[in-house]
Amino acid sequence: MSRVVIVGGGPAGMMAAIRAAKNGHKVILLEKNEKLGKKLYITGKGRCNLTNDCDPQDLLSNVMTNSRFLYSAVYAFDNKNVTEFFNRNGCHTKVERGGRVFPVSDHSSDVIRTLQNELEKNHVEVRLHTKAAHILTEKYQLSENSTKKRRYESRVRGVLLSDHTEIPAEAVLIATGGNSYQATGSTGDGYRFAAECGHTVTEIVPSLVPFYAEEPYVMQLQGLSLKNINVRIFDAQKLIYEEFGEMLFTHFGVSGPVILSASAAIKEMQRKKKLSMRIHLKPALSTEQLDLRLLRDFQGASRKQFKNALGGLLPAKMIPVFIALSNISPEKRVNEITKEERAKLVGLLEEFPVTLCGVRGFEEAIITRGGVATKEINPSTMESKYVKNLFFCGEVLDVDALTGGYNLQIAWSTGYLAGDSIE
Ligand SMILES: Cc1cc2nc3c(=O)[nH]c(=O)nc-3n(C[C@H](O)[C@H](O)[C@H](O)COP(=O)(O)OP(=O)(O)OC[C@H]3O[C@@H](n4cnc5c(N)ncnc54)[C@H](O)[C@@H]3O)c2cc1C
Repeated sequence: MSRVVIVGGGPAGMMAAIRAAKNGHKVILLEKNEKLGKKLYITGKGRCNLTNDCDPQDLLSNVMTNSRFLYSAVYAFDNKNVTEFFNRNGCHTKVERGGRVFPVSDHSSDVIRTLQNELEKNHVEVRLHTKAAHILTEKYQLSENSTKKRRYESRVRGVLLSDHTEIPAEAVLIATGGNSYQATGSTGDGYRFAAECGHTVTEIVPSLVPFYAEEPYVMQLQGLSLKNINVRIFDAQKLIYEEFGEMLFTHFGVSGPVILSASAAIKEMQRKKKLSMRIHLKPALSTEQLDLRLLRDFQGASRKQFKNALGGLLPAKMIPVFIALSNISPEKRVNEITKEERAKLVGLLEEFPVTLCGVRGFEEAIITRGGVATKEINPSTMESKYVKNLFFCGEVLDVDALTGGYNLQIAWSTGYLAGDSIE
């Protein structure tokens, strides 16, 4: 039996603690907040999309960075194991659109309660208001080679807390999360711990994050949500992203599912440039069908002014913006609109223009892209290749996925495998 200290009481840390304790270790779980799972509580808008009901292979295809590194972890504890774990322990789950799995109650607090009950049942010592300041390591002599030159390797020996007390341990797991939504406690401490232990930390950037938009008219549209639209994003002439779904205009630019996914799919270098986005407002209709639709609408309102004839086609908030972009006088009678003007309107419906100029910050990012370099971590155990008995799990690692429950699946899988790998 080893004494194990786990730093971070989020989903990865809690799952690791339960697993290590089930294997008979004495586990101490440190959480600097006043309660466990503060970020978990706000996931899925308070409903917690805890995993996705797809094939394990599809899980991995929704991972944007270092999916191959996660292979062993996902197969050690996959999405079926996650739902079984929660159902078995009293938190019943349901599957919604896109395979998203939620607790039947729609309350993330039930997910947290289930984990807390398991921690208690397995005698994990939870220490709240307890902040880890440093990971303590020591060199130890592995062997002496023929030239009598000593070869040393590091191993972990405990954790130093911010109040300067030391907790000795045979194994330490870092599950401190990423750098986003810092009010939940994920302030990037784990990156510093990793660097102090000799690990590389790749550049961290916000991901699953809204974009700024350049055009003032975008701010006029704030609050407007568009469903069933198709979005294409271009870097100069090159199409770099295309997705069908929902989006939202905000006071600074654009957000919503297709936009957040775009931020995860588009490379950091490209995200810094001005990118041109084209929104197809009626993707189910061909150009000819759209023109016919306009003709029909205009024929039915031939004596109306242009500004009063778009209600059937566009949300009210969009009409003034659309009219301004069309350069057609709002007072013009609909029966005076020319074929060329109609073609322009069809073009706008097919390619409503928005210029993206950078992403918002960590405070609005669902996840952090970048983190502890995965090539320095053993993928079969989550153990550091540099420091013996030091483990990493969850978002602190350089792994990230799209929305749909995949990021929590990463936390559960890597937490489980790390906790299970302690000897
Ligand atoms: C608004 C929002 C909604 C989301 N919704 C979903 C969703 O529905 N589905 C999904 O799959 N993913 C979702 N995510 C992503 C998901 O929440 C994270 O990927 C996941 O929480 C990462 O788990 P973790 O355990 O690695 O880290 P965290 O959940 O960040 O937990 C880390 C914990 O470590 C503690 N800690 C940090 N430093 C120290 C220290 N020095 N000492 C002690 N404790 C420390 C922190 O206080 C924190 O409690 C969402 C994220 C956000 C921000």
